[in-house]
Amino acid sequence: MALWFEESQEERAVLGPLREFLRAEVAPKAAERDEKGVFPWDLVRKLAEFGVFGAVVPEAYGGAGLSTRLFARMVEEIAYVDGSLALTVASHNSLATGHILLAGNERQKETFLPKLASGEALGAWGLTEPGSGSDAAALRTRAEEVPGGFLLNGTKQFITQGSVAGVYVVNARTDPAPEGKKHLGLSAFVFFRPERGLRVGRKEDKLGLRSSDTAQLVLEDLFVPQEALLGERGKGFYDVLRVLDGGRIGIAAMAVGLGRAALDYALRYAKEREQFGRPIAEFEGVSFKLAEMATDLEAARLLYLKAAELKDAGRPFTLEAAQAKLFASEKAVRACDEAIQILGGYGYIRDYPVERYWRDARLTRIGEGTSEILKLVIARKILEKV
Ligand SMILES: Cc1cc2nc3c(=O)[nH]c(=O)nc-3n(C[C@H](O)[C@H](O)[C@H](O)COP(=O)(O)OP(=O)(O)OC[C@H]3O[C@@H](n4cnc5c(N)ncnc54)[C@H](O)[C@@H]3O)c2cc1C
Repeated sequence: MALWFEESQEERAVLGPLREFLRAEVAPKAAERDEKGVFPWDLVRKLAEFGVFGAVVPEAYGGAGLSTRLFARMVEEIAYVDGSLALTVASHNSLATGHILLAGNERQKETFLPKLASGEALGAWGLTEPGSGSDAAALRTRAEEVPGGFLLNGTKQFITQGSVAGVYVVNARTDPAPEGKKHLGLSAFVFFRPERGLRVGRKEDKLGLRSSDTAQLVLEDLFVPQEALLGERGKGFYDVLRVLDGGRIGIAAMAVGLGRAALDYALRYAKEREQFGRPIAEFEGVSFKLAEMATDLEAARLLYLKAAELKDAGRPFTLEAAQAKLFASEKAVRACDEAIQILGGYGYIRDYPVERYWRDARLTRIGEGTSEILKLVIARKILEKV
């Protein structure tokens, strides 16, 4: 009998060929893409053939109809070879696509999901603004109702796929907030890349995940029709929170993939590198680091699998997703840091991949809820229970 934490036959059938492709075609030039910071359209096209851009989209809308659990495992495998590509896949699926799946009406699902699922259009999701990150409900983008639709004005900051997306989901204020309730009055809008009204501002030059696309979006009298309203007007923030819950599973999986890559490199290095006449792996000071890294990452994977399975079962998973992302991101960054330490001076040199793993993993403590905000979420949830 298969154990729940092991790969099932279905998972092996999906992950086996994907791993093969990743090893053969993605891994070899990951460092070069990181260096150049150019978005890899060629790989996106090829990866689309594995169904990753429609992983959790039902088959009726052209997706692969996979479980969240299997989707997260895919993200982990992609991150193992290329963090940037993993962020592209994770955010595309969890954020823009996830929001449409969660709140879209039938017409919106039929219009947008097939293009997103095939990878023909990538999805971007705009919540963060220059003045509002963790305090997302303080966003200032306005959607003013006009005949036939809405006019959107505002600036969105740090948007993944911002400059390359074909489908945008943007969160904006449609209605004034009642006193002390700024989470009310917000709404989401979904639309294809418009000809006018949306300008790509600054493209960010990042510490890591350098070949993923991160851009500012400037909305200037962007007209969207009534049908662009995604979910219930004024109640959009509830959907935002649920979208982020799902997104955190993907980011946790990405962190585990990056941490595992660092661990595996450090393991091989520690067995080969000799000092004082023997492999450094024979020194407890080194092998104990490896032991902790391996244990942390195993536990991190179990946490995200648990959150994913709860989501797949239609059960609440806010707490578990927050715990998974908090733990996985903190432990992955630590594992990458320890891998640098195990490689000594070589770990600090760009010819070796571990510094890239660390730079890539560092984002997982920030995006889709910083570690500090996740602790607030977790604390609130566990206190609710007593
Ligand atoms: C590469 C990248 C990709 C991204 N992609 C997207 C995307 O696709 N779409 C999108 O909408 N956003 C995206 N973001 C934005 C990301 O979600 C935010 O950066 C993140 O939520 C933090 O917001 P902030 O940067 O404004 O930091 P701030 O909210 O200003 O936080 C600064 C610091 O203060 C701490 N802090 C804030 N409030 C509290 C509190 N109450 N208690 C304790 N500490 C607190 C934070 O934890 C953090 O350490 C992306 C960011 C990056 C870097």
